[in-house]
Amino acid sequence: MKRRIASDEELPQEKWLVAFRNPGGSVFVRQFLAPGYYEAYDVVMSHAEKMHLEVLWFLEKRKSGQYMNTNYPELGGKCVWCNRKFGSEPVPCSNEDCEFEFCSRKCMFEHVHNKH
Ligand SMILES: [Zn+2]
Ligand SMILES: [Zn+2]
Repeated sequence: MKRRIASDEELPQEKWLVAFRNPGGSVFVRQFLAPGYYEAYDVVMSHAEKMHLEVLWFLEKRKSGQYMNTNYPELGGKCVWCNRKFGSEPVPCSNEDCEFEFCSRKCMFEHVHNKH
């Protein structure tokens, strides 16, 4: 997934947060790296198009205040239980204090059973 452009000086990467709504109506937040606003916009829009998601907002993580201390899953990340890549509708952990998301309810239940 990672594309690298050969260059002597790499632009510093900022952490960004993006909130999507999936076709089922649930909202979830992802983080990703991009050097600037336009790059971030490209990342957000192409991901939204590919996964058929609605973009609610995106912003630089260090400017996000209330969201700052939370570690969100990476955009296009993997299920923390089975390591499969996420589809468009991740299953959030049923424990309210837990930020993990899963590829399926089966993985979520096994994680809850083992970790909570
Ligand atoms: Zn899984
Ligand atoms: Zn959990």
